[in-house]
Amino acid sequence: MNSFSPNMLKTFKTCPKKYYFKYIQKISMPQKISLFEKGKKVHALANYYLRGDDITKMEKALNCEEKLTWEHLKQNEFFQKNYINSEYNLSCKIGDYWIGGRLDALMKDEKNYYILDYKTGSTPKNPEYDYQTMVYLLCTSKLLKNQPLKQVQGDAYNIKFVYIDLKNNQNVLIDFSLEKEQEYEKMLIEICDKITNAQFPEEAEYTAQCDFCEYKKICIK
Ligand code: SF4
Repeated sequence: MNSFSPNMLKTFKTCPKKYYFKYIQKISMPQKISLFEKGKKVHALANYYLRGDDITKMEKALNCEEKLTWEHLKQNEFFQKNYINSEYNLSCKIGDYWIGGRLDALMKDEKNYYILDYKTGSTPKNPEYDYQTMVYLLCTSKLLKNQPLKQVQGDAYNIKFVYIDLKNNQNVLIDFSLEKEQEYEKMLIEICDKITNAQFPEEAEYTAQCDFCEYKKICIK
């Protein structure tokens, strides 16, 4: 049975040929490491902090920019909610497929569950229908329905997705509902069907996005 991550779905939607290189041929191309450095550090720090580990040494090793980003996250109202889990691997079945990914953190208060996603770069242009939003919300919803978390009292729940935009120190909050659950499931099954039935390698035409694609060298002759 095929399983898909939000990145796989996003890549196919962006360019099926890129999907072919990356996930079928499994060709990995070098990328600019510096772009991911800060994001990686903040994610690691957040995970240790939430788990209750001593992060004093790690905090001292941050540069000025990283310190500011970390302070934004530490002060964030959603990051201060009740901790359930972090770097949390979740998956669920929709139709004939498995979808899943790793949540930065899952938090809770007396009314809601919050899926947190820390962004040190840009937030999605259409966050409500971003594949990451849809996959994480569906997986969390199914998890809560099937096996209520031990740390949580009661069985009524609402789930919200929160993109924490650390660059601009603001939040993008997305609500979830039964209607959304059905809509997301339908949309995700459609894209999974498309990938499963695609004829690879697909022909690709040169577009503006090719200029930023790491596979350009092997793709465009
Ligand atoms: S170079 Fe363009 S066509 Fe080729 S994989 Fe990248 S985005 Fe797709």
